[in-house]
Amino acid sequence: MARLSLNHVSKSFVEKTVIDDLSLDIEPGQFVALLGPSGCGKSTILRMLAGFESITLGNIQHGEMCLSSETTHVPTEARNFGMVFQSYALWPHMTVLENIGYPLKIQKVSRNERQQRIQNVLDIVQLDDFKDRFPSQLSGGQRQRVALARSLITEPDVILFDEPLANLDRHLRDSMEMTFRDFHRRTGATMVYVTHDQAEAMALADKIAVLKEGQLMQWSTPEDLYLRPESEWVANFIGQGS
Ligand code: ADP
Ligand code: MG
Repeated sequence: MARLSLNHVSKSFVEKTVIDDLSLDIEPGQFVALLGPSGCGKSTILRMLAGFESITLGNIQHGEMCLSSETTHVPTEARNFGMVFQSYALWPHMTVLENIGYPLKIQKVSRNERQQRIQNVLDIVQLDDFKDRFPSQLSGGQRQRVALARSLITEPDVILFDEPLANLDRHLRDSMEMTFRDFHRRTGATMVYVTHDQAEAMALADKIAVLKEGQLMQWSTPEDLYLRPESEWVANFIGQGS
């Protein structure tokens, strides 16, 4: 496990700068939320961490390894980060078991080891009874748990989440928040969790990065964000509730 650092990272598309001189140090095992209004650049940051986007200035480090800079770009596969997105992106023609095991099949992991690792992650997300079902035979929450299990199967030490609960109703979101906390406790992985929902960020994260138009407005614990906002904008944003 290693620290994940963004050092003076900027990202521009043609003329427009969407991330402006962003620096963050994310400690191993930390659960970090990237919080801010729609369009502030949250997904772009996640995509740069995942290696789907290059960066314009600065660098991203994982421990001793430089993942991205003006001249370096480690490809997505070589980063081995888990990813969970809003749309679960499960394969409809595969069972739960096949969906979860597929990344290992591609990596040509032996059948025995595959079975063992699948069983491990099924236990973590508590889906053992559902392993022979197809995605269409699952509830929204169960599908999201399959996506969680699949993100874990390659044993990543960093997992990236892009608004994974945005499609679920409030009741289900509350129970999924518990699932995420449990998932974090059981895996010990570093988690970077994008959301525009401050209640969700506050409930889940050890530390929150508040973003506005590509700039970091505050980087603090949920408690400090709430009790000690560093600017009027943050105070207003947090005060608005959700
Ligand atoms: P968020 O996830 O916080 O809603 P995004 O990271 O998706 O925000 O987008 C931040 C800004 O970057 C937006 O203004 C968006 O239009 C712009 N943007 C994102 N991707 C691209 C792209 N490929 N080309 C041009 N502009 C983009
Ligand atoms: Mg987004």
